Amino acid sequence: MRRPIAALGVATADSRQNPGESDGYGPSTRELDRTMSGDLEVTQEFMFSAAHRLPGYDGPCEDVHGHNYKLTVTVKGPVHNRSGMVIDFRTLEEVVKKNIFPQLDHRMLNDFMENPTAEYMVVWIWGKLKDDLPGLCRLTLYEQPGSSVTYCGPEGAGSCGCRAEGRRSG
Ligand SMILES: [Zn+2]
Repeated sequence: MRRPIAALGVATADSRQNPGESDGYGPSTRELDRTMSGDLEVTQEFMFSAAHRLPGYDGPCEDVHGHNYKLTVTVKGPVHNRSGMVIDFRTLEEVVKKNIFPQLDHRMLNDFMENPTAEYMVVWIWGKLKDDLPGLCRLTLYEQPGSSVTYCGPEGAGSCGCRAEGRRSG
């Protein structure tokens, strides 16, 4: 007995009468576009090592020491129809590595920053990335596992909704 073509996962004339519906290969782009609403967040992680000292700090951090930093960069926006992406991970990586890594990775941070706390660093990083990353939404810098600073931009990131969340939580 012959099995129907559709059961073999082959697109048939019948399935094409409803364009955008699954044709046996899985959900179509149009089908997914219809169920998707709002913006999506894309996040990429980066690691770098750097030395710093915190002038005026009352404790061991006043002396030169190092960290293996982790930086997460989040871009928020709509999925572009042509690419199916908010932003290509390769583009994100290129911008981060070009705009901030030369000054951060295996560097002495005090060479260009007076007081390189994670707070000041993340604000500086925002300024270096914002022009080349439209939709930049959130930066989180870990000085060590479990200890991080998050920055959502000078306007409290209207685009990512952090300000609204802050108001809700009082
Ligand atoms: Zn430190």
